[in-house]
Amino acid sequence: MKDTVTLPVSAPYYQPSGRECELFETSHENGLPLLLKGPTGCGKTRFVEHMAAKLGKPLYTVACHDDLSAADLIGRYLLKGGQTVWVDGPLTRAVREGAICYLDEIIEARKDVTVVLHPLTDNRRTLMIDRTGEELVAPEGFMLVASYNPGYQNVLKRMKPSTRQRFLSVTFDFPKPDLETAVVASESGLDSNRAAQLVRLGGHIRTLSGMDLEEGVSTRLLIYAATLMASGMNVTHAIEAAIIEPLSDDEDVQTALRDLVATVY
Ligand code: ADP
Repeated sequence: MKDTVTLPVSAPYYQPSGRECELFETSHENGLPLLLKGPTGCGKTRFVEHMAAKLGKPLYTVACHDDLSAADLIGRYLLKGGQTVWVDGPLTRAVREGAICYLDEIIEARKDVTVVLHPLTDNRRTLMIDRTGEELVAPEGFMLVASYNPGYQNVLKRMKPSTRQRFLSVTFDFPKPDLETAVVASESGLDSNRAAQLVRLGGHIRTLSGMDLEEGVSTRLLIYAATLMASGMNVTHAIEAAIIEPLSDDEDVQTALRDLVATVY
């Protein structure tokens, strides 16, 4: 995913699971950074998109990866038409505009990123641009949101307490069955009975996660399966392509998953 900026239009559909919308609004009102913890595909990004649009704020989304450096966030000098010009990165633009900046999978980013984030996430609320000598003070309305997936954590990639303790935090998990059914049906156009059946299958598969599966099936994959089914694909093929193949390459695990499917269908 490329970095994107989304301008506030109508808020995309988001089904809350608890009081996360209130927490986001209050954090935003008070200029506090927020960390969303949870497995992949459980709605963190959609939540941020929904809240940014609801608050009428532009949203800068950065998909962090292990090569992402502070310069990618802050900006750099680029050669344009024979001239060297400074180009703001997404974080700098968000600070200048008092927008929301969302750093997806923050622990993937390189270590120098945390150095930049520290003064921005405490009461200084400043962004230092070393290369230009500028020091920006984040205006009211600027908010930093980050996400990470505790399931992927390993010793090398742990969020340092000094960074963690600068963020308010909330845990996301897969929605409860009735809510997840509503999400799957609404996103795919599949009828709620068949969506509920997929969600039931999802629940069974999630009980396997941690044992043979690194992670349970995401809401995103259930939506993919539902979308194929809503387009007329038969259940077996849809589940094979959207759930079994994406979850594992291991034949034994795939067989175990197919056995689970047979208990639901
Ligand atoms: P994450 O950022 O946690 O990896 P996403 O926000 O991209 O996951 O969610 C994946 C997809 O699942 C979204 O595009 C959306 O279609 C759907 N989804 C998941 N949870 C919800 C929810 N609570 N409300 C609406 N859609 C959801």
